[in-house]
Amino acid sequence: MKPSANEALRRTVGPDRIALIGAGHVGATAAYALMLRALVPEIVLVDSNTALAEAEAADIADANALARPARVWAGDYADAAVASIAVITAGGATHGSQDRLSVAAASAAIVSDCVDGLISAGFSGILVVASNPVDLMTMVALRRSGLPASRVIGTGTLLDTSRLKQTLSQALNVAPASIEGYVLGEHGNSEVAVFSTVRIGGQTLDQFCGGKASPDLSAISTEVRDAGYAIVEGKGYTSFGVATAIVRICEAILRDEHAVLPVSTLLTGEYGLSGLCLSLPCVLGAQGVQRIVTPNLEPSERHALTASAMILQTAFAALPVMTSDDRPDR
Ligand code: NAD
Repeated sequence: MKPSANEALRRTVGPDRIALIGAGHVGATAAYALMLRALVPEIVLVDSNTALAEAEAADIADANALARPARVWAGDYADAAVASIAVITAGGATHGSQDRLSVAAASAAIVSDCVDGLISAGFSGILVVASNPVDLMTMVALRRSGLPASRVIGTGTLLDTSRLKQTLSQALNVAPASIEGYVLGEHGNSEVAVFSTVRIGGQTLDQFCGGKASPDLSAISTEVRDAGYAIVEGKGYTSFGVATAIVRICEAILRDEHAVLPVSTLLTGEYGLSGLCLSLPCVLGAQGVQRIVTPNLEPSERHALTASAMILQTAFAALPVMTSDDRPDR
């Protein structure tokens, strides 16, 4: 029997390959964005809903002749095992104004399942986690996989930081890419817009505003924090922003850029915090997180970061402990 187009594309060994585990809104959009960016020649979609993964792969592959050619197919964990990067986007989705932390238990079971599939198939690359609540799911993936902490990275506040730059850009009439600054801590309600890190042309916000009315920072923090809810309210989910954050992280890793990006990583004493994942600026390269950067924070920002960490620690403690010793392949 002639193999299907999808079967014909499957290979067991390939050059640079990225695997998306979860082919829902986030996974499929990330696959499409990765294809357009021409980062890797092979993109595999893995989903428990194989019909969905096949349909999304075929839809993206339809663009091959018009965009950047890449082999995009629906595969399984054996296909994902040889990928340089696996991105977990499977997880419980939130609805309306539902807090991301409320889907932690459902997501933890799904993320553990995906990690088990990858590790038992022999995956040893870099794991990027986008499933929400992303800081807790990065922790779950880290504990469950047994991979080194530098190789398990959550998309964290990269998206929120992009939203901060976009919002400041409108308030200050400066291109978002010309604004430096970070949202740190939880990707969620306790995130911290760290305005003391903002620089425009080397100037702080106060210097840049030069005595003229400064933007309302409290209103900007709230707008950035609630941006995801507003999008979910309108279209039911978010996809383009997070997909672009996934692409940016993959790009920094595959090109060994040593780019500084705010991503969720295991803390080991930074600001007196350890044993949990949250976002701080990280140097990202081929080895994953190569260094964690700790900018000077105003006392109120440091206090808010500690409060964010406490919220995550309490939420993680409420999840069943899922370590690599609990994996069925052990
Ligand atoms: P979705 O429901 O469209 O897609 C989830 C997919 O996961 C589905 O296709 C489902 O079949 C698949 N899946 C479920 N269990 C699975 C399993 N055990 N193995 C393999 N596949 C499985 O949801 P979405 O809108 O794509 O969102 C996915 C996740 O990303 C959610 O947790 C969401 O909250 C999160 N998200 C994160 C960010 C961020 O900034 N980190 C932004 C948006 C969404």
